[in-house]
Amino acid sequence: MRNKLHTKKYSIIGMLVLFLSVLLVVGGLMQFRMKNLLQSYMEKQVAEQAWVMAELVKERFESDLSNLATIAGYVQEKWSEAENSLDMFNVQDSRVEMGMLNLNGNAVYGEPLHFSDYSGIQKSFRGNPTVSYKDGEGLLFTVPVYNGGNVKYVLYRFYPENMLVEKFGMDCYDGKGRVLLMNYEEELVIPFLDWIEADEALLKGPDITKAFETIREKMNISTAAAAFCESQSQYLFASEVDGQEFLVLGIVAENVVSEGLSYIIALVLWVLGLLLLLLAIGLVFMFGAEEKARESDELRRAKIMADEANRAKSDFLANMSHEIRTPINAVMGMNEMILRECESENIKEYAFNIQNASQNLLALINDILDFSKIEAGKMEIVEGDYSFSALLNDVVNMIQIKANQKKLAFEVQVDEHIPDGLWGDGVRIRQVFVNILNNAVKYTKVGTVTFLVSQEPIEDAEYVMLKVQVKDTGIGIREEDMKKLFHDFERLDMKENRNVEGTGLGLAITHKLVEAMHGRLEVESVYGQGSQFSVYLPQKVVDFEQIGDFEKRFQDYMHSLNTYKESFVAPKAKVLVVDDNKMNLFVVENLLKKTQVNIVSCLSGAECLENVAEEHFDVILLDHMMPEMDGIETLKKMKQLEENLCKETPVIALTANAILGVREMYIEEGFDDYLSKPIDGEQLEALLMKYIPEEKLLPAARESEVKKEAASGRPVQNEAEVPEAEPLLNVAIGMKYSAESVELYREFVTMFCSMKEEKKASVEECYATEDWANYAILVHALKSNSLSIGAKKMSERMAQLEQAAKKQETEFIYSHHEEAMQLYEATVEAGYAYLNQNKE
Ligand code: ADP
Repeated sequence: MRNKLHTKKYSIIGMLVLFLSVLLVVGGLMQFRMKNLLQSYMEKQVAEQAWVMAELVKERFESDLSNLATIAGYVQEKWSEAENSLDMFNVQDSRVEMGMLNLNGNAVYGEPLHFSDYSGIQKSFRGNPTVSYKDGEGLLFTVPVYNGGNVKYVLYRFYPENMLVEKFGMDCYDGKGRVLLMNYEEELVIPFLDWIEADEALLKGPDITKAFETIREKMNISTAAAAFCESQSQYLFASEVDGQEFLVLGIVAENVVSEGLSYIIALVLWVLGLLLLLLAIGLVFMFGAEEKARESDELRRAKIMADEANRAKSDFLANMSHEIRTPINAVMGMNEMILRECESENIKEYAFNIQNASQNLLALINDILDFSKIEAGKMEIVEGDYSFSALLNDVVNMIQIKANQKKLAFEVQVDEHIPDGLWGDGVRIRQVFVNILNNAVKYTKVGTVTFLVSQEPIEDAEYVMLKVQVKDTGIGIREEDMKKLFHDFERLDMKENRNVEGTGLGLAITHKLVEAMHGRLEVESVYGQGSQFSVYLPQKVVDFEQIGDFEKRFQDYMHSLNTYKESFVAPKAKVLVVDDNKMNLFVVENLLKKTQVNIVSCLSGAECLENVAEEHFDVILLDHMMPEMDGIETLKKMKQLEENLCKETPVIALTANAILGVREMYIEEGFDDYLSKPIDGEQLEALLMKYIPEEKLLPAARESEVKKEAASGRPVQNEAEVPEAEPLLNVAIGMKYSAESVELYREFVTMFCSMKEEKKASVEECYATEDWANYAILVHALKSNSLSIGAKKMSERMAQLEQAAKKQETEFIYSHHEEAMQLYEATVEAGYAYLNQNKE
């Protein structure tokens, strides 16, 4: 990450350096180009100014000439009054002379002038108005005066040199540019307005001369031109005065010319600068946007990856907890069998420890599964109606046992006015109470855990606000640890708690659950003295019947638990168990041993379909998670199967994935009920009792009587069917093969009986097809099976048939097979009779 940031920083700096270098190069080139452009532009400007000045001179000259022409007109009209007219029009300035010359050069009016001094006189005699100059004298304006069609006189006006500047002097650029007039002989006619000595030198300076040469060259192709004299920073300009043999020459400082331009240039530069700035901002923005896009791309990718990782984590946790539940199921089931059947106190104690450990492990797995669901946002609150007192019974019962184990007092006070029929997620509420109570027991070494259940007033009459407080006299929680209490995986005060098992998930889950149910969880604690957790939970009331005396109910409940015994026997009932896990099958088979239910187990959906096509079952226990064809698919196929003999049979889903809402899901899929793994023996019995047809349900035998009977070895036989003296079932022999366990003996008899249909059918088939090899195998199995339940007679008959089959003594088989099968039937009947004998 750090490296990436550095790289980004460097690339931004690199971009800026590159940008600035480009800017400098472009700026340099532009400046050079601009300078050239500007110079030629300014030269043009100045040349134009020169032309303007020349026009001005022309206008002035023409104005004088036209004035003279007007006077000439008067003279022409009235020769007699010529003198008067001339007097009248004579300029008031005494320095200005006016006169009229005749062709001989004599003055008919005013002063005489020499023709040779002024070229203009001759030209005017030829009919042209002219202006001519004589160095050291002045400027002469001449116009022809006609008499008839011929020029008779030349009228002139003369301005002496000392008044030329005053009369015709010019400047430009608001007086900042200087202008002079020269004639074609390069004589200075009108100098600059404020002529100083230095001007002479300036105009003759080498650079200026060079500039004039440039101008001269340029004037070959145009009437006005300008050139820049770099050393003087002056622009020189010249323009011919149209129609006259004069040149306007001028000089103006560069800064004067560029003054106006400088605004434009400044403006252009500003605009340019602004554009560049915009470009730079654009680039930075683009770069930033790209960067941002990349960053947000990276962020998005990182988020997707994190989400995926999180999902993978949640999936992993969910799968893992599912995978772990299955073997725990097996361990807990087998362990329960040990607890139920084992006589040895030592082994029972081990088994008890296994039970404790596996329950803890299961609780931990459940926490992780819950947590992964909360993490994945899949935690559901599944509402339904529940009995609050029954919920409290469960909770109190569970905690009572734990408190007893730690020798803690457990006090329960329940407000008897709380309505009993509530609507909410009973499973989750139970989980919340159990979590908090469990903690109270866990984190209390001596003293009391108090469970106070009351209600708070609430506005909505349809609701009750449950207030559940759990107080303990335990280790308490430090002030600074309080805020960490609901953090995931956070365990506090590890020094004190190092021997207490936990994950730090319980309270985080509890907190989230309470919030999800619109309740709140409050904690008060004094370190070293104890804690109090309070849960406030609004619940809808569906039945206002009050909870009443909870303590009494609880005592009744405990009593009912203590007097519990296996609930029924149903030796005629047939249950099909389908699970791909052999161990699970074994657990179910053995948990149901006492009920004498006939169990057929199979390992796949396909086998299940075969079974239901062959036989009727009273209940089917169908595992959900199976390879190839899962439980739901199997059920669907089963329902479509025409030759299904179990169309009406209730099907119960077995699942290790005890997530919420699963019952509804299974019922929707067509199951009648569901049972979560690890399978609880009592739950299983209760379910079977619910679904096995009533006529097949028999009350359970009293163990003491069974034991007595079994111990007496009283033979059981079906006298009506088999008249022989030898009893068909010798319980004493059977008990010997059943480790003297009545339960196991009963189990073997049950299994023996239930196997009959299938085994007999197989033997009959081999007999019909004369498949003696398999016939031998089957009767061999029946030989040992029958002996294990004490069916000595049948065992002997099977041994004879086995020998005959092995030796291919078909005669013996043909003559004894039928009878042997009848004996088999009779033995099974005797088995059922034995099992039924023990009913109350
Ligand atoms: P854990 O699995 O560790 O019990 P929890 O989330 O249930 O996890 O509790 C988090 C921490 O809060 C515990 O590790 C313990 O330090 C503290 N804690 C919870 N309940 C109590 C209590 N009743 N008394 C003292 N400390 C408690």
